[in-house]
Amino acid sequence: MPGKLNSLKCFCEHCNVMADYDVVKKTELFPVYGEQVEIQASVAVCKNCGTELFNEELDSKNLLMAQNLYRKKHKLLTAKQIIEIREQYGLSQRAFAKLLDWGDKTIRRYEAGSVQSRAHNSLLLFLQHPQNMSEFLKQNEIMLDENQLKNLKQRIALLNNDNSDDFDYGYISTLFPAELSLDNGYKEFDFDKFASCVLYFIDKLPELLIVKLNKLLNYTDMLFFKQNGVSLTGTRYVHLPYGPVPDQYSILYGMLEKRGIVVSEFEQLENGYEKHVLKAGKSTIESMLTPQELAVLDEVLKKFALFGSKQIADYSHNERGYKETKQGDIISYAYAEFIEW
Ligand SMILES: [Zn+2]
Repeated sequence: MPGKLNSLKCFCEHCNVMADYDVVKKTELFPVYGEQVEIQASVAVCKNCGTELFNEELDSKNLLMAQNLYRKKHKLLTAKQIIEIREQYGLSQRAFAKLLDWGDKTIRRYEAGSVQSRAHNSLLLFLQHPQNMSEFLKQNEIMLDENQLKNLKQRIALLNNDNSDDFDYGYISTLFPAELSLDNGYKEFDFDKFASCVLYFIDKLPELLIVKLNKLLNYTDMLFFKQNGVSLTGTRYVHLPYGPVPDQYSILYGMLEKRGIVVSEFEQLENGYEKHVLKAGKSTIESMLTPQELAVLDEVLKKFALFGSKQIADYSHNERGYKETKQGDIISYAYAEFIEW
């Protein structure tokens, strides 16, 4: 943002003061992998004396421009394409780095703009195709933990099949048992209702972490069951370390993502953890919710809107249905009557 830059000052050695400056365009050569790349650089120039000033922000922008030009010239993947390849598999930067056996920082640097080596570029190009990823995974599955591996295999299976809705619905029906029981709240899983609930929360909470969304969905179904004797979405919930989560949630969110209804973003935190956020995508679907269902969603939202992910996870840990089940167990809707409300 040039406007913002112009309001700041830079040190001018000639005038020996922090000076106001103009941003001007100038042809410059930047070295990238030992090659001089010519760009139209933006440089800061002292308003008083016209001396060129050092400005870190402009400098890194120029470098990025040179790196992108180099990538284009050598037909290397852009940073954005690298992000897309990783995200189509639903992998975080850390998990992707582990799978590729690259340093933790390598993929982060590439996605931030550093130019990848030709060997790394070839591997990424190869893995762009799900069938290749599937082959690669056979040799390297030891690099991922059980959960990551399961999610990745499901993603590949999804990507390898066609995009028609018929397939998705058929596929979903194989994921969950059709029998009505306390596991699904006496309702067969309803993907449209599930998607509508996800979109409801994304719409109301623009920076929605998956950890939190999972809990919101659980409370929605439990509360609806408590009030009506049947669940809203037919989702089964599983006891995982961070609280109750929808069974197969990764594949369900993946389906929404594949249709462009949601996008997931990963953000590296300073403490080494990663934030996984869901946002609204370009496509949309019509909400399939009745006024009665919306009322329950409103209630859940009202109670938890201001809760952070950790707060709501901690809160859900106190529920009887969580306390009395073990990791990996389905949490029965029989526990709905005990939820604190
Ligand atoms: Zn000056």
